[in-house]
Amino acid sequence: MKVFISVDMEGMACITHTDHTRIDGHEYQIARRWMTAEANAAAEGAFEAGATEVVLSDAHGGMHNLLPDELHRDVQLVSGAPRPLLQMEGIDASFDAALMIGYHARAGDALGILSHTHVSRLSYELRLNGQPVDEVAFNTAVAGHFGVPLALVSGDDRLVAGLKESHPWAEFITTKWAISRFCARNLMPVKAQDLIREGTTRALGRLEEMKLVQLGDPIELEIHFLDPMCAQIALDIPGAERIDGRAIRYVGRDMLEITRIWRLSINAGMSSFPI
Ligand SMILES: [Zn+2]
Repeated sequence: MKVFISVDMEGMACITHTDHTRIDGHEYQIARRWMTAEANAAAEGAFEAGATEVVLSDAHGGMHNLLPDELHRDVQLVSGAPRPLLQMEGIDASFDAALMIGYHARAGDALGILSHTHVSRLSYELRLNGQPVDEVAFNTAVAGHFGVPLALVSGDDRLVAGLKESHPWAEFITTKWAISRFCARNLMPVKAQDLIREGTTRALGRLEEMKLVQLGDPIELEIHFLDPMCAQIALDIPGAERIDGRAIRYVGRDMLEITRIWRLSINAGMSSFPI
């Protein structure tokens, strides 16, 4: 059994502020150790369930946060950027399950801890086939492209509540309960690690119940930017259409194409900020 684990940061227990998640934040160095420990817990749970190969994909910020010296010796680590599949880089059709650890609610959620969708200063909503998606839903569709089902998600209660409705078969671990966007009631890191380890083993033990999310051909992507200038620049992408002042639409044949267009839009949008 091969297990792919995408590891974000904002959904980890006790991570509640950008002081934890930004590389220049004064609590970043301790927070990346919590991140590494939660990733390890998932890997340990996977090996316990019989995994023969576990690939971790560092999926936060510059994508080089996990500490190799503290990771399980038998995992492999996808680290660094740029990368074609963004948070799902490293996945392919040979994997049996996808897990997402440390994820967060989408941009605009009323309370979700550090909520955003990929790039907080760029866009406020991403839609696939008309449905607003968070990063987990987007990544689950990428996994589905390769025939890999979503098996487990960990993060705050806001993320979990939404995904339980849209992806009810998966195993969910709640690491904290949102009080406001930068304030939560948290499990302690070691407790979250225990739950993730046990939850992973449990989820992989019922893999036959896990479902694929395979979006049809074509797939419609809508990107709602914060700034009309970003939409203007993203229109240089062949096939992109403007829907309103701040939004573009693109119709692609599969999630690889959609991911490429989203990646191009991020790069184009980020280069367009004059200030
Ligand atoms: Zn994220």
